[in-house]
Amino acid sequence: GYRKGGYHAVRPGDLFAAGRYVAQRKLGWGNFSTVWLAFDVQLQKYVALKIQKSAPEFAQAALHEIEFLTEITKRDPSNCKCIIQLIDHFKHTGPNGQHICLVFEFLGDSLLKLVQYNRYKGIGMDRVKRICKSILVGLDYLHSELGIIHSDLKLENVLLVSTIDPSKDPIRSGLKPNLERPEGNPNGEAGLNPIEKKLKMRARRVLAKLAERRKSVAESSRAERSLDGIDLTCKIVDFGNACWADKQYTDFIQTRQYRAPEIILGAGYSFSVDMWSFACIAFELAAGEMLFTPKEGHGYSEDEDHLALMMELLGKMPKKIATTGSRSKEYFDRHGDLKRIRRLKFSSVERILVDKYGVPESDAREFANFLCPLLDFAPEKRPTAADCLQHPWLQYDDDKSSGALNSDEVNSVNLTNSTGITISSCKNVD
Ligand code: ATP
Ligand code: MG
Ligand code: MG
Repeated sequence: GYRKGGYHAVRPGDLFAAGRYVAQRKLGWGNFSTVWLAFDVQLQKYVALKIQKSAPEFAQAALHEIEFLTEITKRDPSNCKCIIQLIDHFKHTGPNGQHICLVFEFLGDSLLKLVQYNRYKGIGMDRVKRICKSILVGLDYLHSELGIIHSDLKLENVLLVSTIDPSKDPIRSGLKPNLERPEGNPNGEAGLNPIEKKLKMRARRVLAKLAERRKSVAESSRAERSLDGIDLTCKIVDFGNACWADKQYTDFIQTRQYRAPEIILGAGYSFSVDMWSFACIAFELAAGEMLFTPKEGHGYSEDEDHLALMMELLGKMPKKIATTGSRSKEYFDRHGDLKRIRRLKFSSVERILVDKYGVPESDAREFANFLCPLLDFAPEKRPTAADCLQHPWLQYDDDKSSGALNSDEVNSVNLTNSTGITISSCKNVD
């Protein structure tokens, strides 16, 4: 972690990009980076600052991500395509080396947290539909306008959008920018150059103004305190593994549980791998559990278990598909049967939804009608994101099924924000 070539240690109050960004608190981390909430002093708004590990391979990955994000952001000036936007990027030198930093618009919790906070019981069909719509808008943009395959879609990589803009309304969001460094920080104010000091003074003035507004907003928002901070749109993030459909870097992509069969088989891939992962996400949102959780067993590998689970749910894989991948021979005999897992227990998406997850029959049928074509073993037969957006399952009345949360669900919603934003908005105004 925090050593040469690794993460950059950050403390609240640390300055980046010559004082433009002031670190607030850690939002999350991944294998490549830590991500911090930061306050952009120049534009007076909150941003997410992703600070990459410094070793060359991580720097390379960051440049890769910047390449895709730049294109994505450039071609979506109105920021309505449900994909994260890159605001800025720069280099930051620290004790562990030089770190490439990416600045993003600040978003809320991931879908994984949403599912966790609902105690893995599913989030309700109306909300599943809303979120699916957002993801599909994003995928349609990536696929048909940009020619990009995301190739790592999963719950962690879709973040909720909060309609509360912390920069416009720091009170209801429960946030106020922290522009102070804790005592004893070795990079304390003494180490600031005159420009940094000036920026910091300016930042202090902003803070004072925000504090002033605090009182009046607290007064006026008391009456309308509600959960309108979550509109359930969401955005696709993490383009560290993205590729161009016509310029692929590796045969082996996607996170295990969301991996399409053609990847396991080594049969080449295109946009439709994202559609497979999308179907896995949609199911997981509704059921609260992953669609496929393959495990290695006695006498068979995780890959073989995965293929078996797929067939148990979706029917036997057509022999032509099963036998023509570069790795087919590892798994299948020449008849197209799995070599080492001989007995399959067939079921269906609809049955599982009803029997295991208690989804009402009619809901389960409609949902399965939407999902199953996406889980076609033949990649070219899967509907595109644009096709899905036309599907009857998504033609709901926006007003009636608002997806907004009623008071029974307040508890789960209060929990849905680890960033503290929504949570505090309900508490702090008191
Ligand atoms: P991975 O190992 O998944 O590739 P990574 O190092 O590339 O991780 P990201 O997945 O981009 O990092 O981000 C890590 C985490 O930081 C996310 O899962 C999320 O919790 C948080 N995060 C990232 N971007 C934002 C954002 N714009 N707003 C709020 N939180 C964010
Ligand atoms: Mg990630
Ligand atoms: Mg990544």
